[in-house]
Amino acid sequence: MSPCPAHHLRLTREDIRQIQLERLQSTLHRVRRRVAFYKQRFQETGFNPDQFESLDDMVKLPFTTEQDLSDAYPYDMFCIPLRDVVRIHTTTGRGNSPIVIGNSERDLTNRAKLLARVYTSIGLTSEDVFQITLRYGLGTGAFSFHDAAREIGASTIPTSVGHTDKQLKIMRDFGTSCLIATPGYARILLEAMESRGMTPSMLRLKAILLTGEPWSTNLAADLEQGFQAPVYDIYGLSAVCGPGIAAQCQEKTGLHLQEDMVYAEIIDPQSGKPVAPGQWGELVLTTLVEEAVPVIRYRTGDRARLLTSPCACGSTFRLLDHVPGRIDDVLIVKGINIAPEMIERVLTDVLGTAVSWKAEVTGEGPTQQLVLRIGITEPLFFDQMKRQRAMVDRLRHAFAQWIGVTPRILLVEPQSVNNG
Ligand SMILES: [Zn+2]
Repeated sequence: MSPCPAHHLRLTREDIRQIQLERLQSTLHRVRRRVAFYKQRFQETGFNPDQFESLDDMVKLPFTTEQDLSDAYPYDMFCIPLRDVVRIHTTTGRGNSPIVIGNSERDLTNRAKLLARVYTSIGLTSEDVFQITLRYGLGTGAFSFHDAAREIGASTIPTSVGHTDKQLKIMRDFGTSCLIATPGYARILLEAMESRGMTPSMLRLKAILLTGEPWSTNLAADLEQGFQAPVYDIYGLSAVCGPGIAAQCQEKTGLHLQEDMVYAEIIDPQSGKPVAPGQWGELVLTTLVEEAVPVIRYRTGDRARLLTSPCACGSTFRLLDHVPGRIDDVLIVKGINIAPEMIERVLTDVLGTAVSWKAEVTGEGPTQQLVLRIGITEPLFFDQMKRQRAMVDRLRHAFAQWIGVTPRILLVEPQSVNNG
């Protein structure tokens, strides 16, 4: 069940569909047998995995949402016994609890191989030195890039986030050839490099891999110009095989979906029906080889479309266009998805009462910020400046702790906030 190695280039579309069908049949049987959620969902919708005979039957399957994964906290979505799980990650979702992602040994290998395939396709080898500036924490991102670099025998420097001066020094002194960063942080590094009088000729960068948040094509051009190295778009999400399930090749026509690992659909978010080829909609993903937490028709919330023309590189994996953002009201700051429900929860926890508020993300790169406007009500905020300051500090601390982002908080008249 491991992903096909680089010979996916030789697969015909018929081969790919056959692989997908067989892997789906196996996955559907496994989840019906071992995950109570899917067993019940299949019964409710009258879906029988034994009658799943063609990919056209996918539309008969129920969706899985972020809320479903959150409600299953901690282990209800696990499809294998905990003794066979070798790593546990979490990611934030819309629900009250985080989404828990377990990996079997084979899941970790598959995830590493999937991303290793992306590295290889853009010319990275065991000679390369990877600098991973993503957070090594509960999320999967940094670990996936790390494991995949090891898979191809490259050197990895796990610098994690922040300490920009140190990052630059390491980049120069250690001869980093592949930089892995969120778009925002890549820009911070570029600006820091330029302000310190460093030039790209002092570095040995040959690829910059961006992940974790949407970004503009202007940013990619600025980074390519500033670092004198090509930028690649790496899409992924923790709940579905991690980063690399879609990624640009050297042609940069679009992002090749790793179609032997995931089955992708684009649906109309309102009707749930598939959109016409080439149309924008919501990306829905089904895992094909995950053992610990397989997900069926998972609604990613990401706005996406499939390109209809083939890629000049010769790969038969279909192309996803650059993902421009969300179809819903989830905000993305520094690679962290923030649903309105999460903001609401922190506010209510800290303040002990519901307040009116409005959140927005301003700026890009170093100036990017989550700005939170909170309507002041009498019982909450007294007119003494000192108490207001303490309240704001407590809120900022709570957001940093529970969401991982420290917002700029503005106390405003309740009438000027239109989000309830
Ligand atoms: Zn290609």
